[in-house]
Amino acid sequence: VDATRPLPKPRWLRVRVPSGDVFESTSTTVRGQRLTTVCEEAACPNIGECWSKSHATFMIMGDTCTRGCAFCNVATGRPDALDVFEPARVADAVAKMGLRHVVVTSVDRDDLEDGGAEHFARTLRAIRRKTPDTTIEILTPDFRMSDATALETVMRAKPDVFNHNIETVPRLYLRVRPGARYFGSLYLLKRVKNLDPDVATKSGLMVGMGETDQEILQVMDDLRAAEVDFLTIGQYLQPTPRHYPVKRYVTPEEFARLERIAKSKGFAMVSASPLTRSSYHAEEDFDHLKVK
Ligand code: SF4
Ligand code: SF4
Repeated sequence: VDATRPLPKPRWLRVRVPSGDVFESTSTTVRGQRLTTVCEEAACPNIGECWSKSHATFMIMGDTCTRGCAFCNVATGRPDALDVFEPARVADAVAKMGLRHVVVTSVDRDDLEDGGAEHFARTLRAIRRKTPDTTIEILTPDFRMSDATALETVMRAKPDVFNHNIETVPRLYLRVRPGARYFGSLYLLKRVKNLDPDVATKSGLMVGMGETDQEILQVMDDLRAAEVDFLTIGQYLQPTPRHYPVKRYVTPEEFARLERIAKSKGFAMVSASPLTRSSYHAEEDFDHLKVK
């Protein structure tokens, strides 16, 4: 076997081609409001399904990130200044799309003193004003390079779900997520719970990057120790040949096994499948969490 050649993609990762009226109208709203989505920037394989159900994840604070994670398709560089009108445009798009639950994420903004915390808070407040019944899930950076009050700023705006991805096992951080620290991300999630125990916390892990089974189970334990409520586990896919290679394709049966193990460790909700992404089926999962 030639180790430098990409592994052939298994059949369970085939997705349908994006099309249809709802898909088109989601696309029109996103473009009309000049918004960025992680669905497009991350080349997410679920875009056909999600956009056809009018579900998109908005990415605020530009399309250029100050970090360069080895798995991520988002451009790295010096970002533009913040657009003060963006929170209102996101809120307009949420209203136009009639979203009951919205996921808002961002690039990392290590160039800003507060890491973009205030912009996150403004976006939350703009959505609350316009569509008070919409529940809001945020998927945040680690605010590692920011001032100490960044997290408090975000939390004051009261998200319903606070999501921060752990992404991979600690051994692979230097190679895969060089700007971040494993325990820094765990600590951020724990602090969210300390600040407001009513906010549901969520984190996501990619598999297929060379991690061992034992390491995955350890990450689950660490996340439970940080009182994380909800875990997503999905297959890592290499966005371009320049990115970190896929080391293995985890089978649907193995995902089902991981889901069972994670549930037994006490997560309130677990979603594990080859195409699970942190914002995949976020609305349905939040509904489940509420009835628990
Ligand atoms: Fe967008 Fe998330 Fe759906 Fe992917 S899974 S298309 S990022 S909403
Ligand atoms: Fe991508 Fe987030 Fe890493 Fe930036 S910090 S490169 S957006 S994964």
